[in-house]
Amino acid sequence: MTAHTEQVLDQKGRPLRDLRISVTDRCNFRCTYCMPAEIFGPDYPFLPKGELLSFEELERLASLFVKAFGVEKIRLTGGEPLMRKDMPDLVEKLARIPGLRDIAMTTNGVLLPVYAEKLKKAGLKRVTISLDSLEDARFKAINGRGIPVSKVLDGIEAAKQAGLGIKINMVVQKGVNEKDILPMARYFKEKGHILRFIEFMDVGNSNEWKRNAVVTKADIIGLLNEEVPIEPVDPNYKGEVAERYRYFDGSGEVGFISSVSDAFCGTCNRARLSAKGELFTCLFASSGFDLRSLVRSGKSDQELAGAISSVWRNRTDQYSLDRALSKAAPRKKVEMSYIGG
Ligand code: SAM
Ligand code: SF4
Ligand code: SF4
Repeated sequence: MTAHTEQVLDQKGRPLRDLRISVTDRCNFRCTYCMPAEIFGPDYPFLPKGELLSFEELERLASLFVKAFGVEKIRLTGGEPLMRKDMPDLVEKLARIPGLRDIAMTTNGVLLPVYAEKLKKAGLKRVTISLDSLEDARFKAINGRGIPVSKVLDGIEAAKQAGLGIKINMVVQKGVNEKDILPMARYFKEKGHILRFIEFMDVGNSNEWKRNAVVTKADIIGLLNEEVPIEPVDPNYKGEVAERYRYFDGSGEVGFISSVSDAFCGTCNRARLSAKGELFTCLFASSGFDLRSLVRSGKSDQELAGAISSVWRNRTDQYSLDRALSKAAPRKKVEMSYIGG
């Protein structure tokens, strides 16, 4: 932290550490659990270009988060971040920010053969690539666009060739892709990439989430233990979202993002910037704070930092914890594709 860095704590004593930036609300997939095709159809009102934060605005806000609050990690997401034109240019701008240690991206991977090398050259360190099945028929149905598995595997290979760090995200849904848990574990164990199992979440308002459609961390551990036993490993740092496990045979790790069965709100230190420049302090929030208006009305860095600080200090979010305690009141939530995962 520099002399000008302010350690802000929210109402529950949680610091602001990570920033996730959604660079677009558009996507070339229509995953049933995120942007179901029936709702995100041809007439869906995606944001026009002028509504998106420009790269210059993103660079300014990102560097403010780093300089003023000590944020060291930024993740670019969406929608599909690689649908936004010239992403390597944005990465290059962000990579120049002094004090920013790590830039990562979450992507569905299909555009990585085009961009992986340019992104790496620009300063991207790691990609998390989402893949829910190795079986074509199932994957095509889940992604809603008939995209074959090979397109994502090509993306993973391109990331590997470019020298990017790689993790794989798999959202597991009961009755949809439970059968894929073991094949995915075997495949990525062999490839040497960390696979993270994500519990299906009630993000947004359109994925018809039901508690009984969640395959929990405990279910998955039980299944893995029958064939490829795993044991827990200490987190790399406080507030790490994925719980780490390693294979007994020393052949690598898997992770669990279990926000339903084991909520981690107590250590949640992530701020999210939506594609149109709203600051969200929870994935399940109904609304965000409009930073774009402040940026576009000529406010100084100090004024912007003051606004961010005040939003964070007032933060009380703990939706997943409340959900677990059956205390989460029904609310209209922001869509996942809009603020990113
Ligand atoms: N398009 C990119 C991708 O799919 O990787 C980035 C954005 S996507 C919203 C980020 C992550 O959120 C993905 O790994 C996706 O699988 C996950 N996700 C989306 N909807 C989800 C849900 N309802 N429950 C759990 N994870 C979800
Ligand atoms: Fe697109 Fe990612 Fe959402 Fe799938 S999970 S629809 S790839 S944003
Ligand atoms: Fe953080 Fe909100 Fe998720 Fe809890 S529910 S971990 S506060 S994003």
